[in-house]
Parts: sequence; structure tokens; C-alpha cells
Amino acid sequence: MEFATFAARAERLAAEPGDIETTVRVADLLSAAGDREDGDDGDDLETVTRFLLGRVYPAHDSRTLDVGPALCREAIARAAGPNVTAADVEERLASAGEIGAVAAGFEFGGQRGLAAFGDGRAALTVAELDAALRELAAASGDGSESRKLDALFGLFNRCEPAEAKVLARLVLGEMRLGVGEGTVRDAIAEAFLADPTGNPDDAESASEADDGATLRAEDEAVAAVERALQVTNDYGRVATLARDEGLAGLRAEGLVVGRPVQAMLAQAGTAADAVESFGEVAVETKFDGARVQVHYVPGGDGEFGGDEEPDGDGLGPKLYSRNMDDVTDALPEVVEYVADRVDVPVILDGEVVAVDDAGDPLPFQEVLRRFRRKHDVDRMREEVSLRLHAFDCLHADGADLLDEPLRVRHDRLRGVLPDAAATLEIATDAAGIAAAEAAALDAGHEGVMLKHPDAPYTPGDRGKEWLKRKPDVETLDAVVVGAEWGEGRRAELFGTFLLGVRTDEAREEFVAIGKVATGLTDEALADLTDRLEPHVTSEEGTEIGIRPAVVLEVGYEEIQTSPTYSSGYALRFPRFVGVREDKSVADADSLERVARLAGDAGERPST
Ligand code: AMP
Repeated sequence: MEFATFAARAERLAAEPGDIETTVRVADLLSAAGDREDGDDGDDLETVTRFLLGRVYPAHDSRTLDVGPALCREAIARAAGPNVTAADVEERLASAGEIGAVAAGFEFGGQRGLAAFGDGRAALTVAELDAALRELAAASGDGSESRKLDALFGLFNRCEPAEAKVLARLVLGEMRLGVGEGTVRDAIAEAFLADPTGNPDDAESASEADDGATLRAEDEAVAAVERALQVTNDYGRVATLARDEGLAGLRAEGLVVGRPVQAMLAQAGTAADAVESFGEVAVETKFDGARVQVHYVPGGDGEFGGDEEPDGDGLGPKLYSRNMDDVTDALPEVVEYVADRVDVPVILDGEVVAVDDAGDPLPFQEVLRRFRRKHDVDRMREEVSLRLHAFDCLHADGADLLDEPLRVRHDRLRGVLPDAAATLEIATDAAGIAAAEAAALDAGHEGVMLKHPDAPYTPGDRGKEWLKRKPDVETLDAVVVGAEWGEGRRAELFGTFLLGVRTDEAREEFVAIGKVATGLTDEALADLTDRLEPHVTSEEGTEIGIRPAVVLEVGYEEIQTSPTYSSGYALRFPRFVGVREDKSVADADSLERVARLAGDAGERPST
């Protein structure tokens, strides 16, 4: 594909960002790039897919073009002719605001005779540009800066304005096409996996059942693309796989040791959330360090990289940051530690923590002194000691474990690296979690992570299966002003309690603020039913009126304003903590305190 064709299409995409037609246009562009029958002998699909996202290399590849804005401005100035200086380009940039518009504003090509690149008149192709950019990226050592400048000047010199605009943006990683990763994912599915049911396109002639099947098939196609993206982190490769091998090929794509995957992330959540949504909760220490992904095939010499595909002959250990940057060289003792102990190919997820002489964790800032360091690594190694805590195992001895439950992955982790494997405790209630948290804090760690013990590992996902525990907010002492009968085996007991707070200290008047039904054991329900039955004032269906007499301590995630209850507030995720035997209803919390807590809660940071 000619680069001019790509640039023209890119221009059209950028002109109407966010349009639902964007996916169709991107799919069209991918189909055109992937059509090997069009007389072009190369296969541009990988390159075009990456270019669309402003990349020359896939996300898992730590190589960069290493072209800074100054070099780019200089190359543009040279291509623009002898009367244009880098300062002129900079000036235009200040008013245009972005480099693409500036590059498109010059007439290039006047310098063709001087071009460092062969025949200046031949149209630049996508493949040629990709090769030239990779060559430029590889330039290193003495004089590399000027070789990069020559190469980039040569490229600009062959560009029409629309091409120059895209080239400038591409080299600086500022594509601005309004084409997000989600759009490219959907477009890959649309271009190469469209209509796997064979249904006619004409929606009117398709029955509802067919429509449903088409939608499901589309969802499956997108899910297969997404999945392959998760394991490869390479849009170009996934587009090619989708075209050449379809759904089956995408689904068969596995992890490769040496090709980092995105880290699974956590949401903030409380112990109550975890117990409520997971049932059993896997509790791990939350280590206060820097995330690392460890890749290792025993038998290697630690040397691999570049375009070299790891082939299982031994490689690494390689260490990658949360953003998939290669941080191996900065952490030699972690490399040695892994190499000494692991004897099967692995991909592990974990945290590197700075420790003192006694092995106790030091604050996070200490790790940062080591983490991305390129110089003085040995000296810093003397100053700050590191320790690896591994908490997940994505691959072990030829088996991909992403879809295995956490418990299974953890078992494998303990098998491959017992010394560094984080402990995983199963808790079934908030008290168990609190005990584990106290132990973690005692040992100097940050707190605990709460994980669904049966959840798969979903790379890049900040899902609900991993929660970083946020401290509970203050509890509230509320009065029971009503109840509802329980259900099923709890039908003989009260199951839900309507809670109220005082409006006025003197008159003992109460307004409702929410209902609590969580955190109550069978014993607690029986006890509360006994306590409350003497105070029942009315019964209508399952609704029971209760004279204020019993005070409950309740936890909650937050207090929101809400028209549902007479107080004008509602508790989010209320849960029973205990009966306040020591408090009479006159000592219960007031509406005023609720209002204050709601204000406080609103100002709390969200993490
Ligand atoms: P945060 O950085 O506050 O979003 O918390 C999530 C981070 O905690 C992860 O990205 C990890 O770097 C770190 N972390 C520490 N211990 C664990 C653990 N046991 N499981 C998962 N992540 C952990």
C-alpha cells in the first residue's frame, strides 16, 4: 500500500472521529491493507494496523524510535528548504499547536536532489516507511543522532503534505486519528471475521432468531480478538491471525515466554464487598513496591531481544514493569534469584520490594531508586536491597494458566518458586480478612489484596475480581425502626432491618436511612428477632413496624443523598457489625452526624 493512500484514509478518519462509521472505515482500510491480491507483493496488514494506533513496534516490544521533537523539527526544516530553520518550525508549532499541521504546511521535495534516500520521486510505500523507521530506530553509538536526522529528512523529502502530516505524528507518537484500541479491535473482527453465521446482510430478510445469532457471533468474534490481544499485545499480529487463521487461530494463540502481557489490575473495595461478591475470599499481602513480570526459560544466557522470537532454547530471566518496559538490567539480584531457583519455563507476576538489613520492607520510594536505573546499578545494589514477592503464575512448564482459577495458579506458583510465593489465605468473613490485614500491616506491608479465588487472570483488566482493600469508613449507630421477615429457611426470623437516626435529641424522633440484611449470621438473626418481637407495633404483609428500642452498629461504603428514605440519605452497602448493648436509642447517631459523614465521604479520595 502506498503511504499516500494510508495518509488519505487517515485524514478522513481523523476528520470524523467518534463516528460509528469509523469502525467500518477502519475495517475497510484493514481489508485493503490485508488484500494480497492487489498487485502489491508485500503484506501491509501488520504495519497498517500498528500505524493506525501510532506505533511502529507492538506494545510488548520495548524498542522505540527515539526521535525527539527537536530532531523532528530539524528534519522538517531541512526538507522544507534552505530558507527554513528549526526555529521557524518551532514558531509555527507554537501557533498551530501540533506537529502534523506544521509538517503539512510546507512544500517538501525541493531538496530531492539532496535526499539521502535513493530515488526521491518514487512513491513511498507503507512497507518502505516501516523498514526505514526501524532502521532509524536501530541507529546507535557515535553519530547516530545525525544519521537519524538524515534518514528522517530523506523521508519527509518524499512526502506530500498529507503524508508529512502523518509521518510527523507517527514519529512523535501523536497520531490523533480518533481511532482507539477498541475501534481497531472491533474493526479487525469486522474485517476478517464478519458474518461467521453466513446470514444475509439485509437485516429485514433475517429473522429475529438470525439477528440474535449474528449478534452472538459478532460478540464471539470480538471476544476472540480481545483475547488474542491480551496474550500478544500486538494488534498487527492479531489482525494477521484473524485474516489467515480466523477464530480458531485467534483462540489457539498462547503466551510466549519473553513477550510481556499487560498486568491484571485491581479496583478499590471493602472487605464487605469481597465477602458479599466472592463468598470465599483469597487474601494476599499487598506489597508496597513495584510490579514486575518475570519471564524465564532455564538454560538461557540472559541474552535475547530485538526481533528475535524467544524459541524455548533458554532465555532470560527477563523482568518487565507494569507498563511492559524491560527493567531487567536494573534488578540483577532478582534475575539471579530467579535463575538460581526456577527450573521450568515460567511467566510470573509479582512485586519487587526494597528491604532493610533485617529483610523488613522499606517504603515504596526506596524501590524507585533502583527500578529503572541504567547507571550505577552495582553501587545502588549495595545501598538498596530488593526482594521479590511473586503472587501469580501465568505460565509454567509449557502450560498457559490464564484461564485457570487463582487457587490453581497459586499452587503452581508455590511449586515453581516456593521461597518467593506470596501466601494466600482463604477468608470467609470480614473478621478473617481483618486478621490477615493486621498481620500484613504488622509485618510492615501496605495492607491486603482481596481476590476471587476462582477468577482467571485477565491481562490489562481492572475488574472486580481483584480488590485493593480500602479502609472502612466510620460506622454508624442506628436504631431499628422496622423489619421484614426472612425467606426460605429464615422465614421464621426477621431478615432485614429498617434503620433510623435521630432527628432531634430531645424528642426521640427517628427518620429512616436504609435497610441492613448483610453480615448477619443465623445466630444474630435469632437474637435480633428475640430482642425485637416485644417491640412490634404493626404487621402488614412482610413489613413489620418496630418501636425504637435496639441500636445496631452498621458499616457501609458511603452515605449518599437519596429520596428513598425519609432522612433524605441512604447507606450504600450497609452491613451489620453488632448490637450496641451499651447504647439506648437516645444515644444513637443523629441526622446531623449523617449529614456530616455524607459530606466527609464525598470528599474522600476514591482510591
Ligand atoms: P495500586 O497501585 O494502589 O492501584 O494497587 C495495585 C498494585 O498493587 C498492583 O499493580 C501491584 O503492583 C501491587 N500489589 C502489591 N501486592 C499485590 C498482590 N498481592 N496482588 C496484586 N497486586 C499487588
